[in-house]
Amino acid sequence: MRLAILVVAALFASAADAIDISNRYRSPRNPERTVRKSTELIVLHTTEAPARSSLTKLSDRGEAHFCVTEDGTIYRIVDRDREAFHAGRSMWNGKEDVDKFSIGIECVGYHDKAMSIVQIAAIRNLVKELQAMYKLTDDKVVCHSHVAYGAPNKWHRKKHRGRKRCGMLFAMSSVRTALGLRLRPAVDPDVKAKRLVVGDPYLNRVLYSGLDTMARQYGANGTAPAADKGSSWLSRLLGVGGGTKTAPAPAKPAKAPAPKPAIRSAPAKPPTSIADLKARGYVLKGVVSKETTAIKIAGAKWNAPDTYYTIRNKVIPGSAIDASRIEKGMSVWMKPK
Ligand SMILES: [Zn+2]
Repeated sequence: MRLAILVVAALFASAADAIDISNRYRSPRNPERTVRKSTELIVLHTTEAPARSSLTKLSDRGEAHFCVTEDGTIYRIVDRDREAFHAGRSMWNGKEDVDKFSIGIECVGYHDKAMSIVQIAAIRNLVKELQAMYKLTDDKVVCHSHVAYGAPNKWHRKKHRGRKRCGMLFAMSSVRTALGLRLRPAVDPDVKAKRLVVGDPYLNRVLYSGLDTMARQYGANGTAPAADKGSSWLSRLLGVGGGTKTAPAPAKPAKAPAPKPAIRSAPAKPPTSIADLKARGYVLKGVVSKETTAIKIAGAKWNAPDTYYTIRNKVIPGSAIDASRIEKGMSVWMKPK
């Protein structure tokens, strides 16, 4: 009798833990996609666009297995046993076309902006479930920028890592801690083997040298001390690790904590026009021409998030620009040092 009760309780527990996944944007491409032969990586992306347009595009083109929106809703796009076209030109450990051996999760948001705790919790649950399903250790959970690579072009004479910064925040240790991931890739296997060169030194520092621009947000969130690296608020949110128990008291009592940015605080809106750029103190550094490349104008900061390109009334941050899309006539805007 007691055993039966325990079994029933266990069933309820697992049903409650099961993840809710919406089929509202399930891709019409599913039937035409090959069943994937192996699953060796989980690749995290950032949509760099709002939810609605992202979901529609991902579904129409079958470009991810799942998409997690800001409110923590998880959408199934391509069935998880089929191939989704999410990684593009990619390589990991000498194997090209990462789509053939990975699961792709798009997260609505931006590669250099903190996400809400509900969204992080949803990503964490989904990733954990998939890791268990495919027996993948934490270092097999990577971001798109870990695996994307660029073909030789006018900026890089060799094949290079750093084609994009998609999903970059998921390589940062504070974010990984919030996601419950303890390991991350220690080196770039393809750079180490000289198959690729480093094409984006800033990204390389994030991926492999511990540069973490999210530490304040995920460490703090109003309550948990920075040193806690996000585990405390997340534990509370997920109801594990002792309920309302707070982190150990800091050594210095009675000192009012400095105000800390809440994760929900809206990120500053990017500039939308030349007038807007000027109002924010950006100056025109040059115009791209045949002789004057973006690198000549902006140097290593050509693809920095605070370098902007304008053309035909569009404003594009350096971090979102694809080297092959830089064209003659583009104006380059930067803040004077
Ligand atoms: Zn991506």
